[in-house]
Amino acid sequence: MVSFSCPKCCALDIVKRGKRYNKTIVKQLYRCNDCRLTFVEPDGFERMRFNKEKIVRAIHMHEDGMSLSKVQNPLWQHDNVKVTRWTISEWTKKYSVFLKSASSSGKSNNQGQNSS
Ligand SMILES: [Zn+2]
Repeated sequence: MVSFSCPKCCALDIVKRGKRYNKTIVKQLYRCNDCRLTFVEPDGFERMRFNKEKIVRAIHMHEDGMSLSKVQNPLWQHDNVKVTRWTISEWTKKYSVFLKSASSSGKSNNQGQNSS
């Protein structure tokens, strides 16, 4: 399992796919099992910003009670994001933590205070 998602469809189902040798630099190649895109290891999460709104929207739709297959439809038709239900399920697991921590800040502000 890798720690980043596909730059195109944000799927987390990524496999290693050999290496690309470029002079002195060796780049690890990866392939997305969802959209079959082959890409080099991303430098950061900047590229995810493009699809982040879609991920957030999908998570909200799912948490509002929509089934994974119903969340899938608008993503396919409106956003042209072709992902599997498994991927959406992984999004909700991976990103709902961030969404919750962002909306309920100031909950644990007593932690980490060491009185000497
Ligand atoms: Zn992909």
